[in-house]
Amino acid sequence: MTISGSWQRAARGALLLDADGSVRSTIFAEMSNLATRTGAINLGQGFPDYDGPAEVLDAARAAISAGANQYPPATGIPALRTAIAEHQQRFYGIGLDPDREVLVTAGATEAIAATVLALVDEGDEVLTFEPFYDEYGAVIDLARGTHTTVPLRRPDFQPDHDDLRAAVTDRTRLILVNDPHNPTGATFSRETLALLVELAHEHDAIIVTDEVYEHLVYDGTIHTPISTLPGARERTVTISSAGKTFNTTGWKIGWITAPPAILQAIIAVKQFLTYVNGAPFQPAIALGLRLPDEVFTGIAAELQSKRDVLANGLTAAGFTITKPKAGYFIVADAAPLGFDDGAELCRTLPELAGVVAVPISAFCHPELAGEYRSLVRFAFCKRLDVLERASAQLSALRR
Ligand SMILES: *Cc1c(COP(=O)(O)O)cnc(C)c1O
Repeated sequence: MTISGSWQRAARGALLLDADGSVRSTIFAEMSNLATRTGAINLGQGFPDYDGPAEVLDAARAAISAGANQYPPATGIPALRTAIAEHQQRFYGIGLDPDREVLVTAGATEAIAATVLALVDEGDEVLTFEPFYDEYGAVIDLARGTHTTVPLRRPDFQPDHDDLRAAVTDRTRLILVNDPHNPTGATFSRETLALLVELAHEHDAIIVTDEVYEHLVYDGTIHTPISTLPGARERTVTISSAGKTFNTTGWKIGWITAPPAILQAIIAVKQFLTYVNGAPFQPAIALGLRLPDEVFTGIAAELQSKRDVLANGLTAAGFTITKPKAGYFIVADAAPLGFDDGAELCRTLPELAGVVAVPISAFCHPELAGEYRSLVRFAFCKRLDVLERASAQLSALRR
């Protein structure tokens, strides 16, 4: 179906359409279709192919049986809001009022959308790192904000501090930080986080942090929420989600913690997006967030060993990799194998090796894509036998 030019101008959704009026297809959809069509191993999309803690899954089944099947309260059930506040206290020493400073959302995705739509006016700048999670660009467009970025520099994907100073201006409304970072698996130093807080103060910007990988950190890395830094809390919106921690990406239970006045503005938008979601999943995630520390460290340790299996496989296959400190993904440089164009490689990878991956250029604006042209993202949140099979198949790339 095509739609007329005037309708396109009138529709915010048109921002996300192709010129012919069809939904702009993302590389993720293209690559997942390719995986389905070819039967290749899908290391493109970041979802686990194995279950999380059994207690959490059992709690959801029990909640359905117990009748938790109608609209939950608008800000989330009290048990979950309390569990989120307790979680922030236990892991980071952050004290929160579960009634005024915590909001349950339909995943981090809705949390990000509601936050940007609530706080960004037409023409306001929103700063993110680049490469960036694709939703950021789309939602900033929908809010008619201006998306500005600071590149993460290879090989360890850290931002240059002078770049950051130059990028934050009085027009900057939000500094949207993703830490730990998707797709690079980088985490950011206390110095970098402190600089972001300083710049936010100087230019009266609000900090929004997407911390969905907060528990998936490796090699002894300690996650530091920006809101724990001096002067940060009063201007920081912290977003996280249960999906990545508990292997429940399909449940879409996320949350926001923020100062009451900012949270009110976000609630005002959120109530008209989904209103509420996931009634039986909310008590299950409340239970999950209260599991002992060892469960959380165990989840990270298991993923770290998966990371190592895929890291070895990619290295043996001839890629140069940056070992991620966190998250679900390894970024691999295909240039040593003679592939300069990651997007091109990803289109032929199912045929060459029976594996699907995603090019890093998909997380970039066209201007910067060149810098990351030969980089490809592989997900390691998969069963060990799948990662071993993928590694063996990828060794066929060495010529
Ligand atoms: C997966 C992911 C999200 C989305 O989280 P949901 O809870 O599934 O909505 C948001 N941000 C980043 C960086 C992600 O990787």
